[in-house]
Amino acid sequence: MPTQADDFLCEVFMDKYSPGHCPFPGSVVRHRGYRGIRLRMVLCGGHAGLFKGWEVKPLEEYRQAHGLIADAGVIGKRQIPAPYFTNFVESARNAETTTERNMWIAMHRAARTFAEFMYWQGHYAKYPLDLNRQTRDGARGHWDDAKEHAEGMYATYTREDHDKEERELPDYFLHSIQCLAAELLIHRPN
Ligand SMILES: [Zn+2]
Repeated sequence: MPTQADDFLCEVFMDKYSPGHCPFPGSVVRHRGYRGIRLRMVLCGGHAGLFKGWEVKPLEEYRQAHGLIADAGVIGKRQIPAPYFTNFVESARNAETTTERNMWIAMHRAARTFAEFMYWQGHYAKYPLDLNRQTRDGARGHWDDAKEHAEGMYATYTREDHDKEERELPDYFLHSIQCLAAELLIHRPN
């Protein structure tokens, strides 16, 4: 089956939450020649700034010029880190209290806005125009607001349902938000 440009995921290895390669769709390829061979790395918008000094090309353009095989640059198996919570919508449906339900809805919204931010970050990496930067900055503003709202909802939920207010989102929540955003992005129509 021929691969689509959106089959190419970022090749950066991360181990902040659980080791694996970055789950976000590739946006650009950075490359350089080295002793007659071509080194290259597929990068998402968030990681597009890595490998400074290497040439940069939008993924589709690089692919047409040099060919690209999905996951070819990944050494070992690609492990997309598993989210701790797999489905915020389902969790909201099964919530036992209104505060819990509101908290899950806020998490879902945070994942959606994070996906949009990552999309526009990738778009700007490909096409670094002022207009695209403005769109990216707007998307980051929405994500910041949604994250703050989710933190507030989480604080309310822990205070009202568990009598112990937690003001900071635990890492596994942020991790789940990122994983769901990656999933949303892979299926996002361009
Ligand atoms: Zn990445």
